[in-house]
Amino acid sequence: MGDDGGAPTTLFGTEERIGALLDHTIVDKYAKLEQKGKICAEYVWIGGTGSDLRSKTKTLDKLPKSPEDLPVWNFDGSSTGQAPGKDSEVCLIPRRIFSDPFRGGDNILVMSDCYEPPRQKEDGSISEYKAIPSNTRAPCAEAMKKAEKEEPWFGVEQEYTLLNSVTKWPLGWPSRGFPGPQGPYYCSAGTGASMGREIVEAHIKCCYFAGIKLSGVNAEVMPAQWEFQVGPCIGIALGDEMWMSRYILMRLAEQFNIDVTFDPKPIPGDWNGAGGHMNYSTNSTRKEGTGWDAIQEQIKKLEKKHAVHLAGYGTGNERRLTGKHETSSMHEFTWGVANRGASVRVGRSVPVEKCGYYEDRRPSSNLDPYVVTRLLVETTLL
Ligand code: ADP
Ligand code: MN
Ligand code: MN
Ligand code: MN
Ligand code: MN
Repeated sequence: MGDDGGAPTTLFGTEERIGALLDHTIVDKYAKLEQKGKICAEYVWIGGTGSDLRSKTKTLDKLPKSPEDLPVWNFDGSSTGQAPGKDSEVCLIPRRIFSDPFRGGDNILVMSDCYEPPRQKEDGSISEYKAIPSNTRAPCAEAMKKAEKEEPWFGVEQEYTLLNSVTKWPLGWPSRGFPGPQGPYYCSAGTGASMGREIVEAHIKCCYFAGIKLSGVNAEVMPAQWEFQVGPCIGIALGDEMWMSRYILMRLAEQFNIDVTFDPKPIPGDWNGAGGHMNYSTNSTRKEGTGWDAIQEQIKKLEKKHAVHLAGYGTGNERRLTGKHETSSMHEFTWGVANRGASVRVGRSVPVEKCGYYEDRRPSSNLDPYVVTRLLVETTLL
């Protein structure tokens, strides 16, 4: 998904992608066949780069009610950069069940995270599952458990850019050229203004069907760039839902033979980068009367940890946080009411109602929500 700061990844070096050669209407005929009581569970996990999503299918004989009803599964970690070849088994623990919008029916998507298998210790006892180093969910879940009383709510704004999968140039841009300057594209309608709406519309319906708390979408300032929002979700649920919403987007883009990039600055120069603003509130900030004071106290704590947060807010973010194009400079922490050039923005209504939420504008589009939400909770609550 080309989100590591470099060029978008190419799966095939050829002019044609296999996906474009297949006729989806033929496949539909088989998709409708009776499943005879079998259920497909698509286990989804984050791969070794920390941004690639992997998945594989397990057949179940009955529909699970909760993730605990699902078997722990495993995969070959040496193929995803998550384990050495000679000891390659990585275990998948199911964490959250979603309906599968691609297979429909009772089929499910299962957000999972990765563990070393239990081993026999010297005293004969069996060790517990141990999170592998790339598992960012486990420490996030731990922090959320500690902060439970404050009921942290999160809402993320996921910006992303659609690319022509052959040329790697933004969808609908003139080949080897540029569209007219930014201005008309944000929240636009019309040919040449909002490119790739088919994918955006399909994504909305798929997220609803899956059970993801999608709260909205909009066309962005740079043409071929879009945003969707997930939330507000409580604690660990934000990370689970956001990762699954990305998985669904990738699967849809695959069917349209289009690339999605979460790169924070896909086109250098006078073109907006892509962010992943994180909106945040807690019981204290939502409390009428004293919430505004609580927000200001939390922001003071965030200021002291600016560098720690930036280090966990996405790779390549320095290309985006320049202080231009509605961003703050990464070199200093700033905040303000209604200020879209600040690190942290507080909504206009907050000082009026004396409570609410605030927006951390620093995370880039390739953020890991498990890392960002953990850092926010650790810095402001723990
Ligand atoms: P912007 O004005 O910055 O573009 P958006 O409307 O795109 O804002 O996104 C706002 C986000 O804030 C949504 O993801 C929404 O779920 C989230 N949100 C709303 N209320 C709260 C709250 N009380 N606590 C945390 N997040 C919230
Ligand atoms: Mn196999
Ligand atoms: Mn937004
Ligand atoms: Mn936006
Ligand atoms: Mn925002």
